[in-house]
Amino acid sequence: MDKPYPEEAIEMKCSIKECSGEYEEKQIVHTVRYRGEVVVIDHVPAEVCTGCGDVLLKPDTVRRIEELLRVRTQPSKKVPLYEYV
Ligand SMILES: [Zn+2]
Repeated sequence: MDKPYPEEAIEMKCSIKECSGEYEEKQIVHTVRYRGEVVVIDHVPAEVCTGCGDVLLKPDTVRRIEELLRVRTQPSKKVPLYEYV
């Protein structure tokens, strides 16, 4: 999975001023609250800062997530959900 940066990749500096990290394409677990329910989406492509862990989603990815939430197909898996008490 860990391949070196392709030549055409644009190196993106972190948007946090104090951070010297750079964004790296990774797959993350994205959690959203949708109509009062917690929805977890696995393997979402995102840019994650190597320094502070800041996460950026591309507009296309955000659109795809909204679509997933709207269409509401059967989830592939169920995950345990814990309340912080
Ligand atoms: Zn950062």
